[in-house]
Order: sequence, then C-alpha cells, then structure tokens
Amino acid sequence: MLFRRTALALSTLCLAFSASAQDIASGRWIDLTHAFNEQSVYWPTAETFTKTEVYHGHTEGGWFYSAYNFSAAEHGGTHMDSPIHFAEGANTTDKVPVGQLIGLGFVIDVSRQAAANVDYLVSVADIEAFEAKHGRIPAGAIVLLNTGRAGLYANRSAYMGTAERGAAAVAKLHFPGLSADGAALLVDRRIGAVGIDTPSIDYGQSKTFSAHVTLMTNNIPAFENVADMSALPPTGSTIVALPMKIEGGSGGPLRIVAHLPGR
Ligand SMILES: [Zn+2]
Repeated sequence: MLFRRTALALSTLCLAFSASAQDIASGRWIDLTHAFNEQSVYWPTAETFTKTEVYHGHTEGGWFYSAYNFSAAEHGGTHMDSPIHFAEGANTTDKVPVGQLIGLGFVIDVSRQAAANVDYLVSVADIEAFEAKHGRIPAGAIVLLNTGRAGLYANRSAYMGTAERGAAAVAKLHFPGLSADGAALLVDRRIGAVGIDTPSIDYGQSKTFSAHVTLMTNNIPAFENVADMSALPPTGSTIVALPMKIEGGSGGPLRIVAHLPGR
C-alpha cells in the first residue's frame, strides 16, 4: 500500500517535471514562505524562533565574516507537519518521500467563506465545487487551501485569534481549517500533501485535530502558515516544498515555492 503510494507520487513528479522543465527558465517563481524572525508565528505553547549573533563584522585577518545560531520548535513559521505528528508509526520528516513534496499545485480558494467566518471549515462541498470547475484532483497533487488570511500573519491576534502565549491561550485560537470530511476526501484522492495559510490544518477551535489524524494516518503531510497564495492560479503551478531534513522529526521549517510556466 505504502509502496504503491510512493510509486504513484513519483510518477506524478515525473509528469510535473516533464510538463514544466522546458519553461523553468522562462516561467515565474512565487515564494510561499514567511521569513523566519522573532515575530514568526508559533503555537502559544511552543518555543519561538531566536537568532543570536556568533559574529558579524570585519575580522583581524582582514576578511568579513557573518554567522548566527538559531533555535525554534519544529512547528512554527512556515513549516511541515510530518505524518508522525498525529499518527504513531507514520513517516517522520526525513522519511517523507520527496515525490510527495514536489507536485502539481491545486489551489482551492475559500477566502470568501473564511472572511465571513473566522472558524470556517473547508468542506467536501468546497472541494467538489473546485473539481466541478477544474477536474478531479489527481494522485500526488499538492492541494493548497487559500483562506486569504496570510496577509494577517504579522498581526498575531488577527491571524490566530490571540497574541497571548501559554497553555491558557490555546482555547482562544480562532482561524479557519480543513474539515474531517474534507480531509477524508483528499485522502481518497491520494494527494501528496496539503497546505494552508493558517497556523494549523485543523481550525483554531479544534479539540480533536481530526483533519491532522485523518491525513496523517494515511501518511499525508501538511504545510502550515503558508504565505500569500493570491498570485497562484487554481491549476497549472508546480509546487516545491522542502523542509529541513530532521531525522526522526515530527515536522520542520519549510521553504515552499511555486513555479508558474509561461512569460
Ligand atoms: Zn505543525
């Protein structure tokens, strides 16, 4: 079963590259990653990003030298949730096949719904409406859910529902996510990965994390805190989403970009 998934993902990867390799120089790259800094969004209970200077300046030897240390929780900023994050025995960060992290992009826009309801859950109906217009989401696809909220990232209370930190802040989280039924439909479509422009694939008020559990028991990773997707077409992009390869990790900082063919 797992082998079949990997084979499918790899064949999709080959398709994606054969379709776009010739125009990779003439196409456009869109960065879907928030820069990591002291303002990066982390879960209220997680260690935040810190960067400390080792050295920055001219040396006695005559050359310039710059180096820093950094530390952070795996889950914060633009990052990947590896399947093991919510599924015992599922893939750790280093074991997620690269074929699941590079693939054709399918961008489902729910920004209208999310603007009307901060606790919005992306539904089966949303995914089916997308497919009615753009065709069935293929195996190996990278599905990105655009709630239109990436622009709020710098304002934590607007983006997450609260700027407070600590365990008591978790109950105050408000942001949209993916419904359990929606997650099950994406599992059925055998997608490679799913991404969202909020802090979690489950909505802020979730108590059961059922989208995480549904996806991750099927070895599907989730990309969270994805940056502004408004420049992406619903179909036709190629997504490259490569996290830091943390051995045995449950997630990790992610650089995610999209390639658009043409001009
Ligand atoms: Zn996470």
